[in-house]
Amino acid sequence: MDIKEFINGKREEMTELLGRLVSCRSIRDKASEGKPFGEETARALNEMLDKAEELGFAVKNLNGYCGYVDFVPKGADGIKLGILCHLDVVPAGEGWTVAPFELTEKDGKLYGRGTTDDKGPSVSALYALYAIKELAVELKSGVRLIFGADEENGSSDIAYYLTKEKMPPMTFTPDAQYPVINCEKGMMRAAFSLPLPKWLLSFSGGQVVNAVPSYAIAEIDGKYADEVIAAADGIENISAVKEGGKAVVSFKGRSAHASTPDSGINAVTGLIGFLSKLDLCENGGALKALANLFPFGETDGRSLGLKMSDKLSGDLTEVLSIAQTREGKAFFRMDIRFPICSSCAQIWEKLSATLSENGISPDEHEGSEPHYTDSDSELVRSLLKVYKRFTKEDGGCISIGGGTYVHGIDGGVAFGVEHEGTDYRIHGADEFVPTAEFIENTEIFAEAIREICG
Ligand SMILES: [Zn+2]
Repeated sequence: MDIKEFINGKREEMTELLGRLVSCRSIRDKASEGKPFGEETARALNEMLDKAEELGFAVKNLNGYCGYVDFVPKGADGIKLGILCHLDVVPAGEGWTVAPFELTEKDGKLYGRGTTDDKGPSVSALYALYAIKELAVELKSGVRLIFGADEENGSSDIAYYLTKEKMPPMTFTPDAQYPVINCEKGMMRAAFSLPLPKWLLSFSGGQVVNAVPSYAIAEIDGKYADEVIAAADGIENISAVKEGGKAVVSFKGRSAHASTPDSGINAVTGLIGFLSKLDLCENGGALKALANLFPFGETDGRSLGLKMSDKLSGDLTEVLSIAQTREGKAFFRMDIRFPICSSCAQIWEKLSATLSENGISPDEHEGSEPHYTDSDSELVRSLLKVYKRFTKEDGGCISIGGGTYVHGIDGGVAFGVEHEGTDYRIHGADEFVPTAEFIENTEIFAEAIREICG
């Protein structure tokens, strides 16, 4: 029997396991002893590890943070390959046409929260390794499957794992897309503040730091209402009205993920641009400076002196994403994705200096360094070879502005499971995995194990 036949013969068993995992509402919840992310997340992890044990593997649960499944055949030289998956999910949200926490098979698709992100790939990884073991495929090195339980909320599972264990020298995560993602930009979130001009009573916009804000609104002293309403007349996206003795101006933009800000319309910079052009500038200096540093439509950080780019990761991008006011001050948060040629320290040094020079106070920042695994490494070459065997396509490496589950793990890449051109609705309503891909992913992972460890 070959790998393909073996895996196809396990179709029902795999679907049954996926169904049991989907029925766990493994959304981060109240911690208790041995269950750091709540009851249901612990249940999903136990379901997976129990099944792996039943299939004859050595397993270990690291206090509910994550667990692993080892397969090191006799004579093998230790563990070489890791496959990193996660069993936690995001909440269901609205708009489902099937039950989100029940596996539903229809029209060749398996529906349910986590079917693609990342419970489906977790089952595929387990059965890929099972096929290798049962068919006694000869391996020179061992494999570890790692099942995390906190990917959706900051990956404290990985941080915990690293306090107890080492990562295998090569690790892929099937928690993104095919072919291979080997380059992820660095990220910085920065906060700064400035005094509000007296005529500007409030200013707010944006809800999350990692998205282009789609709406912003400001209140202006009512004695300038006529002037403001006249200035707004005929300007795209802006509307101004008189309300409760104040002038209220709003800007309607379009949201987009902070890693691809070009596809959005930034309501916060749009409204700042409008306000800075009003002729009300008693104490308007910092506001004018802000408009100059964050011109509406600019996403490459040019005016902040941050524009940079490299061949592997492309351009730096930035988004001014949240604005709030209190006690006469305006507070802003921004998101920057920078290429692998730079570092958090370098970005913050430049940004904080530029802000200070313009009367804006740089308050705080946090970030993560870029992630890169050589496109000529054994892991990447092997995965692309396997990808080509299945798809008949010469897939290359992909560079992204977001971060995957292996961000910061040395020698890690993302491999699968989304194919370009399909919207699997991860994090949305009616998430699914095509049944044929669920099976094929399993075959692909088994071939990857054979290629790398054989
Ligand atoms: Zn995921």
